[in-house]
Amino acid sequence: MSVAPNRRALLQGAAALLLAPAAQAATGPVIKLRLLETSDLHTFDEDYDYFRDQSDETVGLTKVATLIRAARAQAPNSMLFDNGDTIQGNPLADYVAQPGNFPADGVHPTIRAMNTLGYDAATLGNHEFNYGLPFLITALQGAKFPLCSANLLHADGTPFLPPTLILERSFTAEDGSQHDLKIGVIGFLPPQITDWDQGHLHNRVQTIDIVDAALHHVPALRAQVDLLVALSHSGISTAPRRGGEENASYYLAAVPGIDVIFTGHSHRVFPGPDYAGMDGIDATRGTLGNVPAVMPGFWGSELGVIDLTLTRQDGRWSVSDFSTATQPISERADQTVTSLAANSPAIDAAVAPEHAKTLAWIRQPIGHLTRPVNSYFALIGTDSSLALVNTAQTWYARPLLPASAAGIPVLSAAAPFKEGYQSPDNYVDLRTGTIAIKDVADLYMYPNTVAAVLVNGAELRDWLEHSAEIFNKIDPQDPEPQPLFNRYVPSYVFDVISGITYNIDITQPARFRAHGKRDERAHRIVNLRYNGQPVTADQQFVVITNNYRADSGHITRNPDAVLLRAPDQTRDVIVRYILATKTIAVETPAIWSFAPIGSPVAVTFESAPAAAAFLLQQHNITTLGDAGDGYAQFVLTLS
Ligand code: MN
Ligand code: MG
Repeated sequence: MSVAPNRRALLQGAAALLLAPAAQAATGPVIKLRLLETSDLHTFDEDYDYFRDQSDETVGLTKVATLIRAARAQAPNSMLFDNGDTIQGNPLADYVAQPGNFPADGVHPTIRAMNTLGYDAATLGNHEFNYGLPFLITALQGAKFPLCSANLLHADGTPFLPPTLILERSFTAEDGSQHDLKIGVIGFLPPQITDWDQGHLHNRVQTIDIVDAALHHVPALRAQVDLLVALSHSGISTAPRRGGEENASYYLAAVPGIDVIFTGHSHRVFPGPDYAGMDGIDATRGTLGNVPAVMPGFWGSELGVIDLTLTRQDGRWSVSDFSTATQPISERADQTVTSLAANSPAIDAAVAPEHAKTLAWIRQPIGHLTRPVNSYFALIGTDSSLALVNTAQTWYARPLLPASAAGIPVLSAAAPFKEGYQSPDNYVDLRTGTIAIKDVADLYMYPNTVAAVLVNGAELRDWLEHSAEIFNKIDPQDPEPQPLFNRYVPSYVFDVISGITYNIDITQPARFRAHGKRDERAHRIVNLRYNGQPVTADQQFVVITNNYRADSGHITRNPDAVLLRAPDQTRDVIVRYILATKTIAVETPAIWSFAPIGSPVAVTFESAPAAAAFLLQQHNITTLGDAGDGYAQFVLTLS
């Protein structure tokens, strides 16, 4: 493959191609062509949140379909493309992928829904491989639209799919004349799939750099077509090019000969403020370099629209003007969601059988808990809910760690999200016995993905010092009960890190405070040990966590510390862990406790009234009764 091109040379090439003189356009026929994009649908065919078991007006191809219909009605000429991450991403996908559950008609429900919409072409995303190649191939066989991928090859180097497509379409010009045009399509996915799904893909497929693949295929395709559309299942980043980029769409735009780029993978919206101020990107007009581009959110939240004006000169068509937009299916103002699109009856009917079966499945047991799992005392040091999350995410992430992590101890961090915030009903409370998929949303309510960071012992201690902010400073001399929690600190900061042991000394001031203030001399984390030995400041650890924490910037200043940005949501990982393990031996590992104070001190805290039923194991906690607003008050005696 070719050497990575010089960025400036590429940008100049792209600019030269796009400087079609609009002023001369009036002399020949003018075609207005509307290109529509869906991306990262992730089997959100319906407007439904299967984890919460309730409808959700912010998601669903059924609603995008209504926008597609309206967008087509306004345009004499249009084409529709999908950008991948199509057959995985919610419990409907997991249901269909379970052995014996593939639809009898041989068509994956999302593909069946897409078939009703008349897609012109599509490409693959990274998540297409999560259930293995045979499943993917079966799913693709049902598609009534062509797919392409230019940087995905079989292990022997032959293309997995056609690298490019040439679509012949007849369009109506503004003057009513008909014109036959050839539309070239080229597709790309993140080359990292061979790491992320190595269990399915090792020795079966290989990937190449997105820009290299484009440089290899675009010139020949360009020579045969009137318009060239890139389907880039890849995000937008202007970080210096190193080769092998996961988010390569900006550098792809600099490959001469590409007229339009549909992007995705990052689950963001482009044009839009997420990309404002980036060098070479117009986040208002929607251009990468000078190439029009869109990214339509995720889960069917938006429809991407690129309107082109094509003019012909000397027998050649070129883009003389364009506009880009994304159209949302809903609008959110404060707590209120307003739907902007009705459901499509055709999509609802197409996926009705699998939607119904998925509803039954999420309500059915998928595993068994040997003991109750609840978060009533997750901030007191006795917890099974975070233990389950830590076990599942370590099970998933450990095999994905890079070779550079070999021999380094692997820890795991998780924080309680459902810890009574805003409502006394807002706790994890799973009984002994069966666990269903909809229960997993209780264990992990945010759509975070799994990540891993490399930290040293000092950074690990500071990480825990951040957790310890949640406690008030306790006066050991005060004979009156003292409130334990600083309720200005949300429970999601309280990471419990498994694989080590430590004590929290709440008679000391917090090292970290609100607004980034820190007290360098303060320490609450004491007796920090790994394998029973004190942790040293320069000792190395890998900590499995989520993308949000890994990218927060306060764990470490080392830009290379993030060893893994896994493509999967923690919630999906927990489902996979339960499906694979079946019987979950619930643990309440002794990870941390309050440091001994030396004399009895009473601290009070609130939890749900239901927590009282679990006090039997908590010999130093007693109930004080009603705390108002539906909470119960408890007293913990430290000594
Ligand atoms: Mn995606
Ligand atoms: Mg993706």
